[in-house]
Amino acid sequence: MNAKPTVCPNCGAVVLFVPAGSWSRCPECGGAYGGDSAPSGDSNPMMSVIKVICWVMIVMMAIVGVGVAVMFVGCLAAISKF
Ligand SMILES: [Zn+2]
Repeated sequence: MNAKPTVCPNCGAVVLFVPAGSWSRCPECGGAYGGDSAPSGDSNPMMSVIKVICWVMIVMMAIVGVGVAVMFVGCLAAISKF
């Protein structure tokens, strides 16, 4: 179920962490990583939060960009009437 290939932060190899109780163990270097703070690089909750924040930033920048563009076009239209 939880067996996803993950880059081991200790030895750098892509391994399947072996679940052992509340923690996982790297089969390559034998390093153990504790339950709550998951050892994975891609699939830990912190990365998901950062991805969500990045998406919010991108959406906000897009909205601001569209707003500026609309104002710019509006100004050009107003100026061109004179
Ligand atoms: Zn390792």
